[in-house]
Amino acid sequence: MNRYMEETNQALLHTYNQFPVVLERGEGVYLYDTEGKKYLDFAAGYAVSSLGYGNQELNGALKAQIDRLFHTSNLYYNTVCGEAAEALKRVSKMDRIFFTNSGGEAVEGALKAARKYAYKKGTGRYEFIAMEESFHGRGFGAVSVTGHTSYREPFEPLVPGVSFAKYNDLDSVRALVTDKTCAVILEPLQGEGGIHLATEEFMKGIRKLCDEEGILMICDEVQCGMGRTGSMFAWQSYGTRPDIMTMAKAIGSGIPVGAFALTEEVAAYSLEPGDHGTTYGGNPLACAAVSKTAEIFEKEEIAAHAKAMGQYLKEKLQMLVQEYDCVTEVRGTGLMQGIRVTKPVSGITNAALKEGLLIIGAGTDVIRFVPPLVIEKEHIDEMIEKLKKVL
Ligand SMILES: *Cc1c(COP(=O)(O)O)cnc(C)c1O
Repeated sequence: MNRYMEETNQALLHTYNQFPVVLERGEGVYLYDTEGKKYLDFAAGYAVSSLGYGNQELNGALKAQIDRLFHTSNLYYNTVCGEAAEALKRVSKMDRIFFTNSGGEAVEGALKAARKYAYKKGTGRYEFIAMEESFHGRGFGAVSVTGHTSYREPFEPLVPGVSFAKYNDLDSVRALVTDKTCAVILEPLQGEGGIHLATEEFMKGIRKLCDEEGILMICDEVQCGMGRTGSMFAWQSYGTRPDIMTMAKAIGSGIPVGAFALTEEVAAYSLEPGDHGTTYGGNPLACAAVSKTAEIFEKEEIAAHAKAMGQYLKEKLQMLVQEYDCVTEVRGTGLMQGIRVTKPVSGITNAALKEGLLIIGAGTDVIRFVPPLVIEKEHIDEMIEKLKKVL
């Protein structure tokens, strides 16, 4: 235990189980600790640092914005917010953007937008259908639609009117629909819950069900969005545009920013001045990060690269299933994949740390791989080599 860890442990509320490492700087897809030890990063700070570390174009844009102006509040227009919103519209293919400071806050806003839509239409609808094994964040609304009792139980009673369907089981969703159902919320690729990818049948089925029943479809793309699955947002590969979408994690490359987005049709009957707000949301620094991130993604075709690297990663992970009894399954797509293991996950992630590899768990028995999207084949090979030593 060094002095940084001691200081942290003495002052911080103990809510995180932290790895015994103090990170100091990053370069490319590597991080370095205070002793100078190098780590290959297959965690990307929870699927956030998609451009890796030390991207000069991004850092330059951030530094320039800090020198110009980095907070105004939403009382006033600023020079960067509109451009960032346009950029998110372009990549998300949604119509109206609301900036938040995090993913959880984007989910809170999305749920409120859905309730306001029902309120304004006078439908009396207020119930949400969410998925088992889902994760949507830590605020009361987000926790209420998170499909694992351990996240919910200590904080009950939660937001009323939430029921949970089985992921990838359309009949179980249909069985929960009532004339009070306001929205269905799901992650097209579940992250925290253990890397479960929605089938095409499920995504299309939910879209159809929602259309038939007058229910809104909310896609939570906080983790799987922004290029990670090989398309800019995961729903785009299914052709099932949601009515409301959330995003965060990678959209600002590590500057804290999230957003929720509505279609024009929903926006016309949803949140109005006075209904919703946030002091920092859309602040110039966050917006500079979003604009530059989107620009780099488009210019360098990062999503296509993630798709290609994802195929290579999948081949390599499938070989582990052949070679090791303790690896039973490969899940996910693009650069959001996981392996199911029969050994304790924490034993593997801790041993990997010693080998100079950062990986994280998902669910109870899955090792998750969410590297920066700018990795190359050689980094995947290096990761597999280190992982083999650990396994
Ligand atoms: C991480 C995550 C959230 C919460 O985002 P925060 O920025 O931690 O509040 C919400 N939904 C999904 C799918 C996530 O992966």
